[in-house]
Amino acid sequence: MKVVKFGGSSLASATQLEKVLNIVKSDLERKFIIVSAPGKRNSKDTKVTDALIKYYKHYISEKDVTEDQKWIIQRYQDIANDLHLDNRVMEKIQKAVLSLATLPITDNSFLYDTFLAAGEDNNAKLIAQYFNQNGINALYMHPKKAGIKVTSDPGNAQIIPSSYDRLEKLSDLEEVIVIPGFFGVTQDGQICTFSRGGSDITGSIVAAGVKADLYENFTDVDGIFAAHPGIIDNPNSITELTYREMRELAYAGFTVLHDEALIPAYRGHIPLVIKNTNNPSHPGTRIVLNHSKEQQPVVGISADDGFTSINLSKYLMNREIGFGRKVLQILEDLNISFEHMPTGIDDMSIIIRDRELTPIKEEEILRQLTHKIEVDKAEIERNLSILMVVGENMMSHIGVTAKAASALSENNINIEMISQGSSEVSILFVIRTEQKNDAIKALYNAFFQ
Ligand code: ASP
Repeated sequence: MKVVKFGGSSLASATQLEKVLNIVKSDLERKFIIVSAPGKRNSKDTKVTDALIKYYKHYISEKDVTEDQKWIIQRYQDIANDLHLDNRVMEKIQKAVLSLATLPITDNSFLYDTFLAAGEDNNAKLIAQYFNQNGINALYMHPKKAGIKVTSDPGNAQIIPSSYDRLEKLSDLEEVIVIPGFFGVTQDGQICTFSRGGSDITGSIVAAGVKADLYENFTDVDGIFAAHPGIIDNPNSITELTYREMRELAYAGFTVLHDEALIPAYRGHIPLVIKNTNNPSHPGTRIVLNHSKEQQPVVGISADDGFTSINLSKYLMNREIGFGRKVLQILEDLNISFEHMPTGIDDMSIIIRDRELTPIKEEEILRQLTHKIEVDKAEIERNLSILMVVGENMMSHIGVTAKAASALSENNINIEMISQGSSEVSILFVIRTEQKNDAIKALYNAFFQ
């Protein structure tokens, strides 16, 4: 049995929905369909979720919302007309969109989430109707009925583990079940969304709950590329990745899938495949627990910008017991999370995402390092990028770091720092952001050409 999630671009128009219908019809194992809200039809279009945000903002500031309501309803109406859907479904959608503007504004921490979730919820109703009119015995199911219980954290809901047992009971149903993605229901019955892009998370939760054989995530690309296609022309697409490799690539900029979406499927031991709605015969990228066959040592190269390093040194640092703890305590007290901490004998660098820092926090870190911990030198280095060379199989290969480092040096790229965890899933280089694109090209040529 398969759980299938379709993203917004796969559901943006009647033409896209026809492809979705064929995909679902072509495989009887596709039993659970998780849907996003309609996405953009072209680059200038607005996603329904974004239109709902606008609608919400106008509503809470007591502005006229008629245009917002009209636009959103028309968006569904266009699809329904093109697909010749029974009018009753549009009546329900219209009512649901209008009724948002009757909800209480004050003391309602879930109002924003309720508006946003309407994009997915109404799309699921529409799609179930479309399936039913076209030979699929389908059932629309609200997350409340499906048992998707979440914590009361608006915009950042977390699944409550008892949901998995409730979801498991759905496997006995006859129909193809259509569930809106992106949100669950709190203990008090409030609508609460996952973070943006969170329909992937619903798909993963349902796959783990119903113990699916496969979680298929349909989007608009032929899977995951070995490097960013904006930097490398026609990069290889990856046929198979492990969950650990995917996590490393996602950490440094690969955003095909919401990274929180990996957790339920990984814990439930469910393989996942990323496929293209516009090219469904392409095998896509499979994400598995362990590689099925011997792989190349490197599966992908990713990079991410926006890092700052705090570099410090103190003579005989290595002999001072508790030195590392004191440094990290400064960060903890300022509520700063750090990413990496490469060390030398008498020096240490702490790599932090720029968004964690403010000028005041930076000043305070330097002040405390100098006065409290009495370092000899402390400085801040900005405009850094991280570069990750990823592959579980590098563990059994000698010379991967050497090959990467020489590819970088041959292209005059200065390595600011280098780090590799004991699990050897990746090698991380810190470089200057202006050299990032050249660095990716150099590494791609070394490992894939
Ligand atoms: N529609 C939601 C968003 O735009 C969730 C999703 O598409 O996965 O964030």
